[in-house]
Amino acid sequence: MSQKEIEQLFNQLDTSAQLLQKELDVSYLEALSETGENILGNKIPHQIDDVPSDEVVGKLTQIYKEVALDSMEAEDIRKAIQLALLKASKTDVLQPNHQMTPDAIGFILNYLIEKLISGKLEKVRLLDPAVGMGNLLSTVYNGLVSKKISVEAEGVDNDDLLLTLASVSTTMQRQNVTLTHQDAIQDLLMDPVDVVVSDLPVGYYPLDEKAEKFKTAAKNGHSYAHHLFIEQSLHYLKDGGFGIFLVPAQLFETDETPGLMKMIQEEAFLQGMLNLPNELFKTRNSRKSILVIQKKGNNVKQAKQVLLAQIPDFKNQKAMLKFMQEVDSWKKENI
Ligand code: SAM
Repeated sequence: MSQKEIEQLFNQLDTSAQLLQKELDVSYLEALSETGENILGNKIPHQIDDVPSDEVVGKLTQIYKEVALDSMEAEDIRKAIQLALLKASKTDVLQPNHQMTPDAIGFILNYLIEKLISGKLEKVRLLDPAVGMGNLLSTVYNGLVSKKISVEAEGVDNDDLLLTLASVSTTMQRQNVTLTHQDAIQDLLMDPVDVVVSDLPVGYYPLDEKAEKFKTAAKNGHSYAHHLFIEQSLHYLKDGGFGIFLVPAQLFETDETPGLMKMIQEEAFLQGMLNLPNELFKTRNSRKSILVIQKKGNNVKQAKQVLLAQIPDFKNQKAMLKFMQEVDSWKKENI
């Protein structure tokens, strides 16, 4: 990892995005997406009807000249983009369901996926049906590649700005990712995947007539989007494939829980539920957990013991090490 290169790329993205933001009168995220597309488009600033001005085009061209993506490692590029996205989450008002998945959580999800598939797969098809700006998908992608596992990934999102940012980011990182702009609850055109990883949107799904086809649809009124996403993910998992989801900590404590549990028991094995440290979340209601399910078939079995754990505060290295050892021995005995 090169901290200097990460900072340099972040500064180039940030300075050029700020120039564009002022000139085009758009949000920081929109400006970031525009600057990313300019860099990928042969480093030529996009200009229509003298906007941005020749002066700004000159400044952008100067900045872009110094951008050296080819000599950077993918993970360093991701980190620089992630810093810019973090800045966006402070500058722009983003609704909670549009926030990028923070690295601390991405690293834990990546660790679990690596553990679950290690020794089993050398090539992985990965899907994030709520890919957003792609930070989580890219984190897992780079993590698996660093373990010599080759990855082919799919990402879906219904927000075109976020998906454009995911496209800029994954293209800059030279990742093999297919991105689709659509509602993930409707039929997806893709081959089955080995692993689904997703930081699910939480709340109600507005289209009742689409939700009706799902076992987890609410009997009355709108259904929970995150329940539908879990069920939809199972439709696209290979037999024995894993679904690893960031879900509300109260997932199994609502009126709709029985329907969700029934669907999971019919289609999959609930292999784990891990609570993330409370310190990561501002309010009790925003706390999240990690749900691990495995699609039935291919001779997979219910773990003798479901992995139930409280993930320690990330800053507590000793406790973190102990947690990792626990996961390691759970995997050896159960998966
Ligand atoms: N992991 C992402 C990242 O690192 O950038 C963040 C995911 S964000 C918490 C949840 C995403 O779900 C948002 O990008 C939102 O646009 C997307 N989403 C919400 N409803 C959707 C739907 N019906 N179909 C596809 N995507 C949806």
